[in-house]
Amino acid sequence: MENFLNVGAFLADAHPGFSVESGVCKERPYIQRALSLSVSPCLGGEIPEVRVWHWPERKTGWIRFMVFLIVGLLMVLRLVGELVLSALNRAEVRRHAAQPPPGAAAIMDQATYEKAAAYTLEKSRFGVITELFDALVLALVVFGGFLPWLFARVAAWGAPGAMWDDALFIFIAGLLLSIPGLPFEWWSQFRIEEKFGFNKSTVALWVSDQLKNLMLAIILAFPLLWALLSLVRWAGPTWWLWGFGLFFGFQLLMAVLARRFIVPLFNKMTPLPEGELRAKLLALADRTGFRAQTIEVMDGSKRSSHSNAYFTGFGRFRRIVLFDTLIAQLTPDELAAVLAHEIGHYRRGHIPKMLAVLAAGLFAGFGIVAWLAQSEWFNMAFGFPAGEVAPAFLMFGLLGGLVTFWFTPVMNFFSRKHEYEADAFARDAMGGSEAMIGALRKLAQKNLTNLTPHPWFSAFFYSHPTLVERERALAAG
Ligand SMILES: [Zn+2]
Repeated sequence: MENFLNVGAFLADAHPGFSVESGVCKERPYIQRALSLSVSPCLGGEIPEVRVWHWPERKTGWIRFMVFLIVGLLMVLRLVGELVLSALNRAEVRRHAAQPPPGAAAIMDQATYEKAAAYTLEKSRFGVITELFDALVLALVVFGGFLPWLFARVAAWGAPGAMWDDALFIFIAGLLLSIPGLPFEWWSQFRIEEKFGFNKSTVALWVSDQLKNLMLAIILAFPLLWALLSLVRWAGPTWWLWGFGLFFGFQLLMAVLARRFIVPLFNKMTPLPEGELRAKLLALADRTGFRAQTIEVMDGSKRSSHSNAYFTGFGRFRRIVLFDTLIAQLTPDELAAVLAHEIGHYRRGHIPKMLAVLAAGLFAGFGIVAWLAQSEWFNMAFGFPAGEVAPAFLMFGLLGGLVTFWFTPVMNFFSRKHEYEADAFARDAMGGSEAMIGALRKLAQKNLTNLTPHPWFSAFFYSHPTLVERERALAAG
């Protein structure tokens, strides 16, 4: 399962940020997973009347059948979409494995190219098993009657009208649903990543990461849920507007506080030490209007030899982070180009744009949850009491991805547009494209990037253009 402690489908990867390389950064999700604090004790007061649209009794069986049919259909559609795209991608990789494209020789030698193809195929085949398993778990959970049973149990612990027990229900459900995915995460890290020489983590570190995630969820996600559900009592029918404000404010707070309170739980951040490299990079930052006091280095090598760099935060809290693995792999000029790329994201205003999209998504999401919660048919179809917000919220979190999946290519289209803009900024800042191309090629070699994804697969899933596309754009400008 996706890590459900995030509470909502779009919170999962919503924390805005940009990286130079796609799909390989394993460290940032740990940061993103955590939810920020906004503790508000139960606000008390009367339970507002939630207006519920009642259906005639005889129609309930029919409505239940229709909802199950539509949800089942959406599940099958997404699964087929995922499987077809990944099968096309594997076929494309195999086709080129026998005969690499003409440009590939300039990027990586034959042995590396073959290893990258094998790595891509192995991850893709494992992805098929993961997707089938996830779909099975989701179908069992949604249709199996477990969640209404859990809701009845947990809701009985609190006094009538209490909200902490409703929050606890969502929390426990999220926790239980994240367990089936753990063996898959373990296999991916200690079998596949290990086999291709990327894994630097240990079982002890992996277990401690999971426990820290759990601790953060208890400290941050549970109070946030409690505060949200308390808003339902406090604000009445307009609760979802306040809920939107609470969650969005929480995201902004996270962007500011994560560096101090969350990141250090998982990684050591150190300022780039004094020396030629630091002087060069700070001079570049000055020249391009970033005005950095420091450039931070993250000990990514603690878990993986994958390399990356990213830009996150806004205003005074903006920061650029380079992985120690990246510094070991690139020349000073190439590192400067990567830094210029990240500064490009800042100078072109990509973070405010992403925040606006996030806000729009959250706003729509909360509006839909409020509408679903007051629509009797929705809760009833899944076996929950009508008018309860907590089950509607949970079901939306579980099922929302079936719909938002189809918006993935739209989001990635704009993400790739931002990457082209950042690349062009880097080229102009460096006075040519050689350093940026050199950096991208090394990143592709060291991370065993697939050079020949199927065009439909990359259009759908890639947040960054392919290396060939990026080089073409860099050369054209
Ligand atoms: Zn980027």
